[in-house]
Amino acid sequence: MNAELLSVGTELLLGNILNTDARYLANELAELGINVLHQSVIGDNEARLIEALQLAISRSDIIITSGGLGPTGDDITRETIAKALGKKLILDEPSLERIRESFSRMGRSMGKSNIKQAMLPEGCIILQNDWGTAPGCIVEQGKKIVVMLPGPPRELYPLFAKTVRPYLSKFSEGIIFSTSLREFGIPESTVQEILDDLMKGTSPTLSPYAKEGEVQLRVTAKAATEEQARKICHPVVDEVKRRLGNAIYGEDVENLQQAVVQALKKRNQKIALAESCTGGMTASRITEVSGSSEVFECGVVTYANRVKEALLGVRQETLETDGAVSEQTASQMAEGIRLKAAADYGVGITGIAGPGGGTAEKPVGLVYVSVSDGKDCYVRRLLLGHGNAEREFIRYLSSSNALDMARRMILGIPQMKSAVRVDPPRPQNPGSYFGK
Ligand code: ATP
Repeated sequence: MNAELLSVGTELLLGNILNTDARYLANELAELGINVLHQSVIGDNEARLIEALQLAISRSDIIITSGGLGPTGDDITRETIAKALGKKLILDEPSLERIRESFSRMGRSMGKSNIKQAMLPEGCIILQNDWGTAPGCIVEQGKKIVVMLPGPPRELYPLFAKTVRPYLSKFSEGIIFSTSLREFGIPESTVQEILDDLMKGTSPTLSPYAKEGEVQLRVTAKAATEEQARKICHPVVDEVKRRLGNAIYGEDVENLQQAVVQALKKRNQKIALAESCTGGMTASRITEVSGSSEVFECGVVTYANRVKEALLGVRQETLETDGAVSEQTASQMAEGIRLKAAADYGVGITGIAGPGGGTAEKPVGLVYVSVSDGKDCYVRRLLLGHGNAEREFIRYLSSSNALDMARRMILGIPQMKSAVRVDPPRPQNPGSYFGK
């Protein structure tokens, strides 16, 4: 079985939005053992969509379209594909009712233009969209299958997972099982070298996906039952963990912040953050995780020196002598916020995110990250992007490094080699905000 993706939308062609639907679908289909041999992007144009569909039908078994199922005039996928396949569009009353209900839940009445979203090709399998208004559908035409999905990723992903994945899995023999390991700190090229032999394996397969300083390693096996597929994956999962050691921060966890929250929850401990160049990004990442209120005390963004002094107790002489971007300031921020919030762990981040503000001595991308539990305090000096990275990248990686340092300290595993241990500094006004 092979598949082809048709992404419909002029904004994709213009480069206004990234084609993340195609990336998601290609990934999912690969997991199902279905090869994606072609992908196309087509604007909101009937003639070109028909042309692309006909070509796709001539060479692929499954065609999946995304986008163009909305109520407006430029949403033409449903009508155009039905026309090309010689199918009439028929009003599906239950879909219309669901659209009407979804408008009334929002306190609005449904417009006439939305009726067309419930017009579906005759004889199709209707994919009920619980995440938006436009239902998707599957048209079986001889041996060919055409699947139409809405464009917004927040609708397409769950709709695919809930309806299309089970439908297509009947075409792939057996069960596909996969599990994901995530690592932080070892560059992708080194991970490739370390795991080279395992990546050449075919059962299970081991595929790396690198993103923002991390590598996700997906181990996938196909077998008659899930239990058998898990058994095939197991030795490779164990071997990857053995080779990458403490850099692996979780199996089937979403991200570093989730790993940190889980580790804190298990120990019934709390964390507090003092951020400068990351502007609260780390706090935002932690509070993304549901249940973080059990472990997150507070995050403060202390940009100005006088605020670092007043709120965190960073010493005036440190700021004058070593500067706001220094090992000493970072460690005082970490220990300062820990004491102020009466938390188990404190994190401090200070650096130069650029593009301005760098000097020869302290270039853009220089960031100090620190974590303290009152007994131990570690600081890492990072030089992110070698002075050429973008502000957002520097901020994100700083925040990831802080989360990783916190994770290591919470779990009691060694920090990275570049981390320096210092005695927890004594802030100039060490009391907590709460009189403890
Ligand atoms: P709607 O009912 O919201 O109009 P639709 O199925 O008609 O859904 P489009 O109008 O094509 O979808 O796109 C709506 C939005 O979905 C786009 O503005 C874009 O934000 C997002 N989107 C569409 N296609 C893609 C894609 N291939 N990758 C990522 N996002 C997409």
